[in-house]
Amino acid sequence: MKQTIIDQITSDIGGPDAVLDSIQTAMMENIDEGYCTECASFYGNVEPDARRYACHVCNKKEVYSLTEIFL
Ligand SMILES: [Zn+2]
Repeated sequence: MKQTIIDQITSDIGGPDAVLDSIQTAMMENIDEGYCTECASFYGNVEPDARRYACHVCNKKEVYSLTEIFL
């Protein structure tokens, strides 16, 4: 994954602390947020182990859950 995309997703969520909060919530509730690691678009709710879903925006199979991206 590209670091610039990861930085953009981190910034969109509200910084590293907000990312950790989201991942902790995802683990407790077993539902996570998916982001495209190609274009940084928000995908929607996904399973915490979601990988390689097709992005709605760029059509690349680069959508991962926050848990997969950051842990
Ligand atoms: Zn995309």
